[in-house]
Amino acid sequence: MADYQLLIDGELCDSASGQTFETYNPAKNEKIAEIAKGGTEDAVRAIEAARKAFDEGPWPKLSGSERAEKLRAIAQLINDNANELAELESLDSGGTIRKSQLADIPGAAQAFTWFAQMAEERPDKADLPVAVFPQSTNYALYEPLGVCTGIIPWNFPFIMLSWKIAPALAAGNVSIIKPATYTSITALKLAQLITEADLLPPAVLQVIAGPGSTVGEELAANPLVDKVAFTGSTEVGRRIMQLASGTVKPVTLELGGKSANIVLDDADLDQASAAVLWGTFFHGGQVCESGTRALVDKKIYDELVGILADKAGKIQLGDQMDFMTDIGPLVNRIQVETAERYCALGREEVGEPICGGGRPEGLPEGLDVNAYFQPTIFTDVPNSSKIAQEEIFGPVLCVIPFSSDDEAVAIANDSIYGLAGGVQSSNLERAEAVAAKMRTGTVWINDYHMISPDRPFGGYKQSGIGRELGTFGYDVYRQVKHVHVNPETSGRDNHIQYSALSSNI
Ligand code: NAD
Repeated sequence: MADYQLLIDGELCDSASGQTFETYNPAKNEKIAEIAKGGTEDAVRAIEAARKAFDEGPWPKLSGSERAEKLRAIAQLINDNANELAELESLDSGGTIRKSQLADIPGAAQAFTWFAQMAEERPDKADLPVAVFPQSTNYALYEPLGVCTGIIPWNFPFIMLSWKIAPALAAGNVSIIKPATYTSITALKLAQLITEADLLPPAVLQVIAGPGSTVGEELAANPLVDKVAFTGSTEVGRRIMQLASGTVKPVTLELGGKSANIVLDDADLDQASAAVLWGTFFHGGQVCESGTRALVDKKIYDELVGILADKAGKIQLGDQMDFMTDIGPLVNRIQVETAERYCALGREEVGEPICGGGRPEGLPEGLDVNAYFQPTIFTDVPNSSKIAQEEIFGPVLCVIPFSSDDEAVAIANDSIYGLAGGVQSSNLERAEAVAAKMRTGTVWINDYHMISPDRPFGGYKQSGIGRELGTFGYDVYRQVKHVHVNPETSGRDNHIQYSALSSNI
């Protein structure tokens, strides 16, 4: 039996093939557990069970407040098990225990609580204004979509899972989740906790760990699936869209980014430097909306760059399980090699970085240096260079000078991505004018990374389609049905429109 099993049709189980895969603590290259390795057969079984649970089961027929009660119970279950979930999340992903305890686990519980509120508050029916056929009454019914699948990445495993499961269940759908292979533990642990607490009817929530090429493809393509929500790379996002197009399924895509954090010349440099460093190096830069391009006004450029280099040198790399560590290991060695490759490219494109640029020295004993990468800052980076255009997904910052607010906006928008961004300034009116011109899904003024379940999140351009969170993130999990009622139940004179066919009917 695997240490962590799949949840299919109400049962915790091994995969049909009996295969497992190992998962590791990246900091020490130590095996943590054996995970059941799902395949196409498991995905199909889950999809068929989900279809039945939606078409015949009780879940979609519950009222919004009944569903809200269950979602709040899941939030409570997460809070009751917060310490264990935070430890597992950090061990498996390399994210610091500080991040898991303060952001990931409570953030996921908050998402379930927010969508419980949505289930209670968002109306299931809305009257429609009638302008053209005045004898009729018209209304819209909001209905669940059906079987919703969620495919998630490794960088924020637990919070991403909550963004997929909570809105789907709140709106009356059933949900199947595939976690990323490197970070499957907490999704399977939550499945286990919910099953043991007997919180949901069978197949309302199912979790299948396994490869994207089998489980993921099936969850995106199977005709019995009604919607697929994907968070991950833009490259795989394109594939998901292709697979979903076979049966014209709606997709939500949350993809890559190369966001610009603009520092205007009137910014408080202590605050702005903190926003730039936090905006880039939080979680080792493995954040889709990281502000990995810092655009800095030439008037304050040299001074700010000096402060950035000084402060970046004080960021502590270490064991992710130590609460005092600022950045833990990257999720795996592949990610370290990617950062290394881009740094080599950066050296060719713009020269030596002002700090970092390789694996760190002097790590505490027992940690594997090959899992770590130093916070790295390249300066005077042309926006057209590859290091400024491509998503690195590691702790690498490009600093780019500009001469006017309009030029800053033009540089910020010169990207295939448009996920987020920042403006740092002491003049809020000026900052908001800049924010309004940025073609991106979120702008934080004098802040960064402030995502919360009650506000929409998503991308422009190749950063994605649709929005998660907020009221928007609830409504995308519902169909809209228009019902037209002619109150006259007899007498053809009330139906003059029939004469568009013939006056003889
Ligand atoms: P990835 O695209 O490699 O994988 C994401 C998920 O898709 C995984 O579960 C993977 O197993 C699955 N997958 C892979 N190939 C598949 C296929 N052919 N069909 C179906 N599923 C498949 O991404 P990653 O490396 O796990 O995560 C990093 C990426 O995620 C970065 O690009 C980052 O910007 C992005 N991201 C975006 C957001 C956002 O909200 N926009 C949030 C977090 C991460």
